[in-house]
Amino acid sequence: MKHPNEKIMRKLIAYTLKKSDGQRTGCFIVKGDKIISKAISTVEEYKDPTAHGEMNAVRKICRKQKNYHLKNCWIYSTQIPCPMCTSLIVWAEAKGIVWGWDGRHTWGKLNIDPKVILKTAKKKIEIFGNFLENDCLKIKRYTKK
Ligand SMILES: [Zn+2]
Repeated sequence: MKHPNEKIMRKLIAYTLKKSDGQRTGCFIVKGDKIISKAISTVEEYKDPTAHGEMNAVRKICRKQKNYHLKNCWIYSTQIPCPMCTSLIVWAEAKGIVWGWDGRHTWGKLNIDPKVILKTAKKKIEIFGNFLENDCLKIKRYTKK
């Protein structure tokens, strides 16, 4: 499968819209041509500031596979991954990231470009951004800054 993949991102947008109240980030983890983990952010319900969509999806699959590596996996997120989630992706050694809308203006002082963090990875991690951004923005009903 080639990345970024429009079919996967459209599935992720549909999943996030179905699962969410309009204020969530959705994440899929893709290995080969299979979606192996799906999650949305649950910060409010879990009262957990780390419960971002990417974190939840990574936790789910790592527990299931009993291994914390995501080598050869692609992370699809409806939003640009924050510094915490980008670091997680580096730790898990994923192959690449595809993200939808750029919410960096909502991060305050945590506004660190994921590319800066990705440069610290042992192996190159690819990143594709603003992918189907306008469709991803519809999830949150946000508008571009
Ligand atoms: Zn995050």
